[in-house]
Amino acid sequence: MTNLEKTECDAVFNSPAYNQHEQVIFCADAESGLRAIIAIHNSRLGPALGGCRMWPYKCENEAITDVLRLSRAMSYKNALAQLSTGGGKSVIIGDPKSDKSEALFHAFGRFVESLAGRYIVAEDVGTTVEDMNQIRSQTAHVMGFSAQQGSSGDPSPVTAYGVFCGLKAAVEYRLGRSELAGLRVAVQGIGNVGYQLCKYLHEAGAKLIVSDIQLDAMARAEADFAAERAPGTEIHDQDVEVFAPCALGAEINRRTIPRLKAQIVAGAANNQLERPEDGADLAARGILYAPDYVINAGGVINLSYERESGYDRAEAMTHTARIHDIAMEIFSRAERESRPTSDIADAMAEELLTGAR
Ligand code: NAD
Repeated sequence: MTNLEKTECDAVFNSPAYNQHEQVIFCADAESGLRAIIAIHNSRLGPALGGCRMWPYKCENEAITDVLRLSRAMSYKNALAQLSTGGGKSVIIGDPKSDKSEALFHAFGRFVESLAGRYIVAEDVGTTVEDMNQIRSQTAHVMGFSAQQGSSGDPSPVTAYGVFCGLKAAVEYRLGRSELAGLRVAVQGIGNVGYQLCKYLHEAGAKLIVSDIQLDAMARAEADFAAERAPGTEIHDQDVEVFAPCALGAEINRRTIPRLKAQIVAGAANNQLERPEDGADLAARGILYAPDYVINAGGVINLSYERESGYDRAEAMTHTARIHDIAMEIFSRAERESRPTSDIADAMAEELLTGAR
């Protein structure tokens, strides 16, 4: 059998992304046209919590691989964030611009309900607070519905606060300074999280260089934070201490690592490393990497403070501030063991999931 044939045969249990998942549920509803997959990676620490992504996947294998990878990442993120939730994720195959309907989210909600709390759904790329409200009409196992109904609302400000705490830890560790005044930071992507991160950094006296493919987002950062614009695609080349990727994934790769002048990479984007080896390449260049899923966990921490007794923002912020200490632990262990910080974060998460920690 060729490798290609093997990949096509082994779409689930033997695929590399399966990685010890506990349960994968394929959901179909003929009436609404729903085709969805719910993946529960690990529930050792509690019910699996993770968002529902809606995306027009080119083929079913692409959707399966995506949900499995995302679900495992949630187990790691939730474990290191010291949450009593496991890791899971779901995907709905479809175009969020044209394929949404009330019936579709109701059908999806019934599947979530059938798992009796083993999986808790929240927003992700392609789904909104309104979609969570629809799901909520069928199940109580949903978070991140509208704030008027008592949920935690938009998680971005808390995510940004966590990234700020992780970035500060990296600056303390790598540059030996606790004050950010005058620190030069290049922020890529001034969206929901990037904008709030710029706000924290500006208030702390940092100098910002920004880039976004949307000109109005850059104009806003210029006006509000006296930020400078990086020309074209040159955000990686800036003469700064910190590079903060807050747009899409895979921005740290073989092509961009040699261009970085920053001594630290710390940002909000998910899946910043294109390949696992990019973590080692950063370390080899003496660049301290604050692992993405460790420092962008503020959003999921925030969700975990949606309780039956109500949502408590102050508690969520206090918990999120612990990201600083977790990042410090990762940096010092990476130095002790001469290993990349990305490998150490994975190892620490696995120790928590297997009960070794
Ligand atoms: P967003 O869509 O609000 O912002 C992303 C911004 O990046 C947009 O302004 C977009 O124009 C810009 N952008 C896209 N491609 C770019 C490029 N090549 N160069 C420069 N700018 C580019 O998204 P967000 O909610 O701010 O999330 C940002 C990142 O953080 C994502 O990777 C997301 O997965 C991750 N994240 C977000 C949260 C959260 O609470 N929102 C939590 C954890 C992780």
